[in-house]
Amino acid sequence: MSTTSETHVFQAEVQRVLHLVIHSLYSNKEIFLRELVSNASDALDKLRFAAITEPELLSGDSEYRIEIETDETARTLTIRDNGIGMDREALISNLGTIARSGTKQFLDNLNPEQKQDANLIGQFGVGFYSGFIVAKQLDVTSKAAGAEQAYRWSSDGSGQFTVDAAEDGARGTEIVLHLKEGEDEFLKAWRFESLINKYSDHIAFPIKVKKPAERAEADETDEDESETPAAVVSEATWQTVNQASALWTRPKSELSDSDYQNFYHHISHDAGDALAWAHNKVEGNQSYVSLLYVPTKPPFDLMMGNRDERKGLKLYVKRVFIMDAAEQLLPAYLRFVRGVVDSDNLPLNVSRELLQDSKLSSAIRASCIKRVLDLLDKLSADEPAKFADFWGHFGAVLKEGLSEDFANRERIAKLLRFASTTSEGNVSFDEYIARMRPGQDAIYYITAESLLAAKNSPHLEALKRKGVEVLLMHERVDEWVMSYLNDYTGKPVKSVAKGQVELDKIADIEGAEQLAQVALEPALAERLSKVLSDKVREVRGSTRLAESAACLVVDAYDMALHMQRVLKQAGQPAGGGKPALEINAGHPLVQRMAATEDEARFAELATLLYEQAVLSEGGQLDDPSGFVKRLNGLLLAA
Ligand code: ADP
Ligand code: MG
Repeated sequence: MSTTSETHVFQAEVQRVLHLVIHSLYSNKEIFLRELVSNASDALDKLRFAAITEPELLSGDSEYRIEIETDETARTLTIRDNGIGMDREALISNLGTIARSGTKQFLDNLNPEQKQDANLIGQFGVGFYSGFIVAKQLDVTSKAAGAEQAYRWSSDGSGQFTVDAAEDGARGTEIVLHLKEGEDEFLKAWRFESLINKYSDHIAFPIKVKKPAERAEADETDEDESETPAAVVSEATWQTVNQASALWTRPKSELSDSDYQNFYHHISHDAGDALAWAHNKVEGNQSYVSLLYVPTKPPFDLMMGNRDERKGLKLYVKRVFIMDAAEQLLPAYLRFVRGVVDSDNLPLNVSRELLQDSKLSSAIRASCIKRVLDLLDKLSADEPAKFADFWGHFGAVLKEGLSEDFANRERIAKLLRFASTTSEGNVSFDEYIARMRPGQDAIYYITAESLLAAKNSPHLEALKRKGVEVLLMHERVDEWVMSYLNDYTGKPVKSVAKGQVELDKIADIEGAEQLAQVALEPALAERLSKVLSDKVREVRGSTRLAESAACLVVDAYDMALHMQRVLKQAGQPAGGGKPALEINAGHPLVQRMAATEDEARFAELATLLYEQAVLSEGGQLDDPSGFVKRLNGLLLAA
């Protein structure tokens, strides 16, 4: 054991986080109390879990608690827990570095406005450092459960910290905040107590606050005839200020919205509110409680695109925190969900592996999925504006469910929202179906690089003339996930840029100009094919064009051309053969071509026709300067 004081330098990221926290979160400074109480509660959870297999860690003291006291003279605030504690190495690494990878990158990517956002900053484990918002010095004395020696970590937050061996013998961690000038409000009972109430009621361990000794006052000594100086009428006492029961075990009727929100902040590290939640108790031969939240804004992990390392669903067994089990209990497409599952039937020593293939956990998983989908369904029906908000933030993630969750595909599809050719806002499949034209049997959509490209695509022309609505999809995942959705409530779901489009059966709009369907002469098709055989698979007449002369079409099960390009650019095999060229036989340009006898000139025009189709679809030409020459030749001839 070394008794000499060691000085360490904070990891560079910590210095940046500290700077950010102290300067950006000042207007929100009270959050330090939430963070430190939260850490104490985590430390108690960890000890309780460790004690399942190593009861000797408790060394007789299993009365888990958090204590808070203030000292107006010394101007300190102290938060103490008898949890798992930290040894010397843990003090150095937990309070001197930031473990999460990607933090630096995350910080670099924040814009100034985001840096003001307590919500964002609170999400990546800066909790402890928030103490420096109000304290000029923090002393952390800790003794790890099962260890002999306590250590003291101390810092003024300016770049260094010291670690010494300490005298104190109690298990757990004590944090003393030496308040900065002007922060005395936190010592005043009225301020302090209202904060504690706000941040502690959902904590599952008793939080005890020390009430100072009371001196007798004049009126209280009325009966006492003697004129002795005011006597101490009560010793300092510890008062438990919270309910200290796990919030999710309490009946719904006893819980207010703000109880739920405060608990959400505690488990999610999100300073913003939850958008909605579902609290359910399942009783029977398998009993468990789930409390699941949908956040208002995307949590930090989601923004980092971290699909593999998922967090946010805490598994408890009989009120004992076991582990974060988001990966076992929630599918990836619900990775925005935060919450708690507490099982009465899983064994306390349940391992990740056991959880992976336990029947019970798959039942819990299925029920979590169902609860979340129910919640979203209800939100979409009862509070469309809130649901629109949700969709804006998490829609792209939820969509992945089409490819991941076969059993719930239709339920997920029901929640999807898309831009459309006939509506300003987003529409659902159900709304689309309600507006389908007489004779229309399929749901039509198009995927493209952008909303504008989708909207203006030549593939929509004939459908527009018939008044048929088309769903416009422009997110990268769309092409991929839609390939998993062949139909919705029995109606085929079809891309208008793929395969054949049958419009004959769909009623025309009364009074509107009808589309003259002109068949493509086989001889003309033949001549075109000859010229374009190395570029297209087939030349055929089109039913989907009205104004444009030609367009490219892939097979029903091929990948859309814009996605093929994305893959090619990324150096990946794109699959898909050559597209077909569809011709609007009624178009004047096509008719002019049919009359062109000179084969060289015909070839020029045919190539131009193909190039137009490539460009209007958003593609790139193989020979752009050749295109310009051909076009100029045509312009001069005109
Ligand atoms: P987070 O809680 O998100 O991990 P914090 O900055 O709040 O981040 O805490 C950093 C780490 O310090 C914790 O993960 C934990 O290992 C350790 N720690 C903080 N407070 C305590 C405590 N009271 N008891 C034991 N360990 C603690
Ligand atoms: Mg914390």
